[in-house]
Amino acid sequence: MTSLMVFTRDLRVDDNPALFAAGSQGPLSCLFVMDDKFVASRRWSPRRQTFLLQCLTDLDASLKQLGACLEVVPGCWSQEVQRRAIELDATSIHVSEDYSFYAQQRLNSLETWCRDNDIVLCKHPGTTVVPPEHIQPSGGGEYKVFTPYWRSWLRAPKRALVGPPTSLPGASPQRRRCSLSSNDHSASTPIGGESHGRRHLQNWLNNELANYVDKRDYPGMDVTSKLSPYLHFGCISPLRLVELAGNTPGSEPFIRQVAWRDFFAQILNAHPKASWQDYRERGDVWNYDDQAYKSWVAGNTGFPLVDAGMRQLNTEGFMPNRVRMVTASFLVKDLHQDWRLGADYFMSQLIDGDIASNYLNWQWVAGTGTDSNPHRTLNPTTQAERFDRDGRYIQRWVPELSALTPTQTINPPLATRQKIGYPSPIVDHHHQVELFKQRRLSANPSGNTPNNSAN
Ligand SMILES: Cc1cc2nc3c(=O)[nH]c(=O)nc-3n(C[C@H](O)[C@H](O)[C@H](O)COP(=O)(O)OP(=O)(O)OC[C@H]3O[C@@H](n4cnc5c(N)ncnc54)[C@H](O)[C@@H]3O)c2cc1C
Repeated sequence: MTSLMVFTRDLRVDDNPALFAAGSQGPLSCLFVMDDKFVASRRWSPRRQTFLLQCLTDLDASLKQLGACLEVVPGCWSQEVQRRAIELDATSIHVSEDYSFYAQQRLNSLETWCRDNDIVLCKHPGTTVVPPEHIQPSGGGEYKVFTPYWRSWLRAPKRALVGPPTSLPGASPQRRRCSLSSNDHSASTPIGGESHGRRHLQNWLNNELANYVDKRDYPGMDVTSKLSPYLHFGCISPLRLVELAGNTPGSEPFIRQVAWRDFFAQILNAHPKASWQDYRERGDVWNYDDQAYKSWVAGNTGFPLVDAGMRQLNTEGFMPNRVRMVTASFLVKDLHQDWRLGADYFMSQLIDGDIASNYLNWQWVAGTGTDSNPHRTLNPTTQAERFDRDGRYIQRWVPELSALTPTQTINPPLATRQKIGYPSPIVDHHHQVELFKQRRLSANPSGNTPNNSAN
């Protein structure tokens, strides 16, 4: 009766239903496959890889304390899982549910293989607070609009938390493994793993949660939790997070953001192709202007808030939510470039790069996704006036502007730009946004599509 526990995006021992179930059935072996498909992808960020290796090292140490260990093998996910199951003569395989197109595909193919080989495949919750299929609108399908989803999410029964197993009977010594060391770590990037994640979480809840509601949109204040990479790799259970935060006053706006993560997971679960296809088809015709795209990537557009965000992304693999919205809106609504280009670029840089949250937020901004107002545009200058009034965030990431007054920092006069070597705006915002609206309206005069109903 040996079980195989396959870790994916649930790299923790606390509140991991898959691990808990596998460990309670007798001897187990723990496996993580460093999937060739990700490592070879141009969307795979080296910083994300470093963070992942740190998560695996930490998980291995925790498993060893419980009597097991983690085997990490490179290769094709399905083949490696099957090979290990055969080697162990496993009677069951335990894995956490996941929702992207590729995750669903590889889980489905494993399910078929298990059925043919008389092995029980047990899929467990744990990557979201509320699993996608647990709440649905009255007409069925997925929720397309966040507010009604949020109301159902709050009411939905939550599963019971499970603590770490008290001991794990290891099945057999570890086989080969990849090197888990990496030199690619800088002081400004977070350290991966459940132990660091839990410390970081506790610290943040104790010191910053109270400021969250008033300050979360102001990038210069830097008060948000920065838990996104820990949530992406499952170093922290999202349910545990909600439980811990829920005991702290003023937590609702924060928990609401965590529910956005579940919201996008349930959309992706229902429409796995939404990571590359319009969720609501708008018939857009995109520009492919390499020069403009390169200026956006490098943070040289002449719009200080956009440039600050892109430079932070390129340096740290992180960008605050408000700035992600502004930079994404700029690429789509000002430069008329395909949201997929921008989303892929974000994936190639972000440590927290996550299929559901990244691609569906890009679609939200592009107006092809779940925003009930698809014509929304964000003016990068007025956004800076509202959310970076003192220019602190911009000056941190665009040092050319650091000696200017706040007003000049947000929108430097042309003569000043020339003097300090900062580019002039590469487009006229108002003109471009008007053009974008006209192009979209002429592609889709009713402004509506069959998929446009609001749940
Ligand atoms: C264009 C664009 C791309 C994005 N790409 C990603 C991505 O690849 N990975 C990712 O985790 N988030 C993504 N987000 C959502 C959000 O920007 C980040 O989750 C957030 O900035 C992470 O910082 P934090 O942990 O300090 O957030 P906090 O404000 O502290 O929020 C707590 C947690 O709630 C979740 N959350 C917050 N906002 C959102 C949101 N809008 N959508 C989904 N979940 C949310 C995250 O898990 C976050 O860690 C994207 C947003 C936009 C607009």
